[in-house]
Amino acid sequence: MAQLNLILLGPPGAGKGTQAERLVDDFDLAYYATGDILRAAVKEESELGRRAGEYMERGDLVPDEVVVGLVVDRIERSEAQDGFLLDGFPRNPDQARTIDDELSRLGRQLTAVLLIELADGEVIRRLSGRRMCVKNGHLYHAEFDPPKREGVCDQDGSRLVQRDDDHPDTVKHRLEVYREHTSPLAELYEERGLLRRFDGSRSTSEVHDHIRASLATLRLESEL
Ligand code: ADP
Ligand code: ADP
Repeated sequence: MAQLNLILLGPPGAGKGTQAERLVDDFDLAYYATGDILRAAVKEESELGRRAGEYMERGDLVPDEVVVGLVVDRIERSEAQDGFLLDGFPRNPDQARTIDDELSRLGRQLTAVLLIELADGEVIRRLSGRRMCVKNGHLYHAEFDPPKREGVCDQDGSRLVQRDDDHPDTVKHRLEVYREHTSPLAELYEERGLLRRFDGSRSTSEVHDHIRASLATLRLESEL
């Protein structure tokens, strides 16, 4: 079957993680979210976590030399041979070049970049209500997608918490960082014919239907 080598792009809170949870099941993709990997490292107090933590707390990008190796290592894993979904990487043009170089070294290429768009005002509403389970990172929203029992994950029963960097001042800064460093990637991928745009203001299931239809078409096309 044709590979789906995919990148999820979009501002914080656009719904990347929420959609990834669903797409990974639909298409059987290896899923790598650099934010999740880094948060786990901070929690473990590993060397990587110590190097990344202060940047994450401020909402700044963690330096490339800390992040790039994490992704390169994972794309080479056997579980990612049939396709992968990267969430939160690349976040600047240098990281985008790294992915290209790494894939061409492996004789592979990107299939598509899925951009989930969302206006700034909505980002703030999404992130101020975001809740995440401590065990597996399952996502909820206090208003838009509440758990059945307050503060408890429906899927694994663990505690729900708010991320430290989801407080309003840090969110504003993360949006600036996105605009300056990450959003130029959309144009870059558009020029290469890889970009697919999705309206992140629609309901979770509508966004999911749109992305799934687009990926099903891409897979069919690549098999022809
Ligand atoms: P969101 O999903 O809300 O956009 P993430 O979970 O992807 O946020 O990222 C949280 C933080 O982890 C970022 O603010 C940044 O400090 C760090 N981070 C994640 N991915 C990268 C990356 N590719 N390069 C640099 N820093 C990153
Ligand atoms: P990202 O990974 O892009 O930072 P998340 O997937 O973590 O974004 O979503 C941010 C918050 O918004 C979460 O609380 C999630 O439950 C909620 N959310 C995600 N998609 C939608 C949607 N389409 N409509 C309403 N709320 C959503």
